[in-house]
Amino acid sequence: MNFIDGQFVAPAEGRYLDKISPITGAKIYALPDSSEVDVVMAVKSAQSAFGEWAQTKVAERSAFLNKIADLIDAHADELAMAETQDVGKPLELAKSLDIARAALNFRFFASAILHKHEMATDMDGKALNYVLRQPVGVAGLIAPWNLPLYLLTWKIAPALACGNTVVCKPSEITSKSAFLLAGLMCTAGLPKGVCNMVFGKGEPAGSYLVRHPGVPLISFTGGTATGEKIQVQAAPYFKKLSLELGGKNATIVLKDVDFKKIVPQVARASFLNQGEICLCGSKILVQEDIYEEFCTELSQHVEALRVGDPLDKTNFMGPLVSQAHYDKVMSWLEVAKKEGGKILTGGARPSGLPEALKNGYFLRPTLIRDLTNCSEIHQTEIFGPVVTINSFKYPHEAVKWANNSPYGLAASLWTKNLNLAHKLAADLKVGTVWVNTWLQRDLRLPFGGMKASGIGREGGTHSLDFFTDTKTVCIQF
Ligand code: NAD
Repeated sequence: MNFIDGQFVAPAEGRYLDKISPITGAKIYALPDSSEVDVVMAVKSAQSAFGEWAQTKVAERSAFLNKIADLIDAHADELAMAETQDVGKPLELAKSLDIARAALNFRFFASAILHKHEMATDMDGKALNYVLRQPVGVAGLIAPWNLPLYLLTWKIAPALACGNTVVCKPSEITSKSAFLLAGLMCTAGLPKGVCNMVFGKGEPAGSYLVRHPGVPLISFTGGTATGEKIQVQAAPYFKKLSLELGGKNATIVLKDVDFKKIVPQVARASFLNQGEICLCGSKILVQEDIYEEFCTELSQHVEALRVGDPLDKTNFMGPLVSQAHYDKVMSWLEVAKKEGGKILTGGARPSGLPEALKNGYFLRPTLIRDLTNCSEIHQTEIFGPVVTINSFKYPHEAVKWANNSPYGLAASLWTKNLNLAHKLAADLKVGTVWVNTWLQRDLRLPFGGMKASGIGREGGTHSLDFFTDTKTVCIQF
C-alpha cells in the first residue's frame, strides 16, 4: 500500500511488484508498482499540507521529530528485521547501524532546527539587512536499497524540520521499513499529507516525481547512471538538486602501520553490509614493503569471515540483495579473471549452506590481486564483496592511483605519520577522508562526493541550507 494523505491506499492502477527474499529466493510480499497517478495524488496531498506545516512553530516540528525517533527506537526490532529480510544484511548490523542511525537522524535535526540562526548586517546606520530562511515546498526524496531506512530518514528528517512536506520514493527492492515508518508517522500524529510514500520502480514512479512541476526540490541517493538521468529530467524545471551517487573508494595502507592490528578494520571497510555501502573501500593499496605480508594476513582474516543466515549472530555477511545484483557482481569477477586478476580468497558461494538458503544470493568475500591500474575493475563500482589489492612504492603514487577513477566519494588512510596524512588527505579528490578509521560520521559535517560521486553536500547546516530557500531583506532607515 502507498501512504498518501495520511491513509494507506492501493496503487491507482492496481499493479504490484513481487519482493523476492535475498535469503531464500522466494517471494515474501508484494508492493505497489505505482504510476504517475499515485505520484500526482501524493504531490497534491503534500501541497495541501504545506501551508500549515510550514507555519508550524519550530519547537512543535522539533517535538514531532523527537516523537518519531522515540517510536523508531520502540520498534527497533521490527524495523531491523524488515531491513534484514529485504536487504539480507545481518540483523545485528541492521539494529546497530541502520535503525540506530535512523532514530539519530530525527533526533539530530530535531535539535539542529532549534539552534539555526541567520545573519543580519548594518550598513553604517543607513540600512539594515537580514536573511529570511523559508521552506522550499514539496520535497521529492528518492532512496536506494542498501541502507533503506537510514538513508531515507537522512532526507525526511531535515526536510520536515525545515517546514517542507515530502513525497518519498523508497527503492522498489527494499520497501518494508519505509512502509513501517509510515505507520509510525501516523502513531506520532503527524498531520496528514506532511509525509507521503509512493512505492514502486524508478520508472515510472521515481521519474515522474522528478519531473512533477509541483516538486521544486529533489534529494536523490543512488547510482551515478540514475543521477545523470535525474539531472537531465530535472533541468527544465530548475529544481534544487542534491545527488549522492556511487563510489570507488581507496583504502591506503602505509608501511609504518601495525598492520596486524588494522587488518580487521580494512576487512570491515571492504565487506561490511556485503560490501554494499557506497563508502566501502573496494581498492586496497598497500606500500610495497609490507605488501606480501599484508596480503597473507588479510586473506587469512577474510577467509575466516562467516557468510550465511543473516539472523545468525556469528555470520558477518548475509546474501547479496537480489539475483540481478548477484549476477552483476559475478560478471565483474569474470572480467577480473580475464584481466589477469588472481583471486586470493572468495570468488564463489560459501559451502555448507543449509537447504533453506540454497536459493539465496550468497557470495564469499572476495579479494583479488595483480590487476593493473588501468583494469576496468579499478574504474567501476561493483558494490559488492569484491575488492582488489595492489602495492605502491611512494605515498604520492597511492594518491594518484586513488584519484584515477571517475568517482570521488571517500578514501581511508592508515598510517602513524599524521603529517603525511594531512598532506595526502588534501591531495585526495574525494568528499570524505578517514585517517585510521572508517565510516565514522559526525552529522554536523558536510557529506557528499566529488566528480561522478555527486553534486551538493548534505549534513548539519548543509542539509538545513539545502531544504530551505534564503531571502535577503534590506530596510532603509
Ligand atoms: P539506483 O540508482 O538504481 O536506484 C536508486 C533509487 O532511484 C531507487 O529508489 C530507484 O527506484 C530510483 N530510480 C531509478 N531510476 C530512476 C529514475 N529514472 N528517476 C527517478 N528515480 C529513479 O541505485 P540502487 O541500486 O538502489 O543503489 C545503489 C547505488 O547507490 C550505488 O551506486 C551506491 O554507491 C549508491 N549509494 C550512494 C550513497 C551516497 O551517499 N553517495 C549512499 C548509498 C548508495
